[in-house]
Amino acid sequence: RRYRKTIIAGNWKMNKTLSETRAFAEELKPILPKGKWCDVVLCVPYVNIPAAIRLFKDCRVAIGAENCHYEATGAYTGEVSAEMLKELGVKYVIIGHSERRQYYNETDLTVNKKVHAALEVGLRPIVCVGESLEQRELGVTMELIAYQVKCALSGVSADKLRHVVIAYEPLWAIGTGKTATAEQAGEVCQAIRAVIRKLYGARVARSVTIQYGGSMNPKNAAELLAQPDVDGGLIGGASLKPEQFVEIINAAN
Ligand code: PEP
Repeated sequence: RRYRKTIIAGNWKMNKTLSETRAFAEELKPILPKGKWCDVVLCVPYVNIPAAIRLFKDCRVAIGAENCHYEATGAYTGEVSAEMLKELGVKYVIIGHSERRQYYNETDLTVNKKVHAALEVGLRPIVCVGESLEQRELGVTMELIAYQVKCALSGVSADKLRHVVIAYEPLWAIGTGKTATAEQAGEVCQAIRAVIRKLYGARVARSVTIQYGGSMNPKNAAELLAQPDVDGGLIGGASLKPEQFVEIINAAN
């Protein structure tokens, strides 16, 4: 673990208006733990990014986006490029969240293009991979995850890979209140590191942060984060509540 940083990242999804973002910041900042045992990230809706950057400027919370486009500029009405995010002071961007794969035609190919677009401008991509319940029951979880990871990272140099975060998010655990057991989470995160080791070697594999996501909460966080290959969490629901988010940050210690 000393080779890589633990990262606790919130994913707000389509939640919180500007005023709710301000109220959240006011509540969170006074109770934010000071210790440096993990990096803390909040991925918020595009429109709240400039405010979030200002609100969290003088504290440890880095701001992330929830998506970006893979082209640098052009005729893509309604889209936002990685460079636009970078210029605002955004540090991270979630790529390939299962909700985007499910509802917005995100594919392994567009995920790969977006990973390159993010790295190109110096944003850290948080790449989401995960199996459905059917795929788990068919016994193809490891093959599927390896395939998704390989697709996402295709063409990424070892040097750039240090900036990539992988989030293992089993679809059946997202927003369902059903959590993977610590063993299940640990097993898949370990397999992801093995895939990276095969592609890039042991030294690089040791340095990559691999998160678990899927109904992580103050009750189950410590056990999940105690797994040797689980280097943090991507947190949906519980990141909307300042006290719960803080409890998860503390559980990473
Ligand atoms: C997510 O959407 O990344 C997620 C993990 O959501 P939740 O924590 O609500 O299951």
